[in-house]
Amino acid sequence: MSKVSCEIIKDMLPLYYDDVCSDDSKKMVEEHLVECHSCKTELDRLKVEFKLPKEEIEKIRKDSNVIKKISSFWNRSKVKSFAKGVIISVILVSLISFGYYYLFHLNTVNVPTNVVEISQVSQLSDGKIFYHAELTDGYALNEIAYDMDDNGNFYMTPLRPIIKKKAQPPYGLENGYDFFDIEDQEMNRDGAEIKALYYGTPEDNILIWKKGMDLPQASEEIENMFHFE
Ligand SMILES: [Zn+2]
Repeated sequence: MSKVSCEIIKDMLPLYYDDVCSDDSKKMVEEHLVECHSCKTELDRLKVEFKLPKEEIEKIRKDSNVIKKISSFWNRSKVKSFAKGVIISVILVSLISFGYYYLFHLNTVNVPTNVVEISQVSQLSDGKIFYHAELTDGYALNEIAYDMDDNGNFYMTPLRPIIKKKAQPPYGLENGYDFFDIEDQEMNRDGAEIKALYYGTPEDNILIWKKGMDLPQASEEIENMFHFE
């Protein structure tokens, strides 16, 4: 058999490697390879190159496992996200509810005395102090807090939420009569004597009564209003 050039053999090597050439060609290549180190090396190189795709496939298979893992993690993290979403929603709803309650219902604001009118201050026959309190700004009053300091000053502090409501009839604390019993042990802190009665705060108040002050006797109409027997 005539000597075949290395060029022809190298062209045929891929076919040989894939085992798709004729038996004659195969034989020819093998005979050449025995004698030619260069082509043998080329075949070895091909083997390595052709192996590579297998490794690539393996790598891709691994990558697809990674993708599966990512997707399963994604599904788990979706569950976590949902849980987080629920928790965040609960917190938000709580904050909004508290915010609403805080702004509209929690009585945190002192009503300034420049919108307070105290009138008809008088003494009932049983010693209780009668008065009429009216808030002139047209807004409702929600609460009156009681506090007494160490000097016997008793404060009735009108309180409102930050967002105040328009006063609606029937009027309550924002426009009504009330009376105060300075002898009431529940009012007297630690049984201490009440020496003065104020409507407002220690800083901003209207004096209703002070020890030694002579109040007019309440009218018969007022007496009847509080005559329960
Ligand atoms: Zn050769």
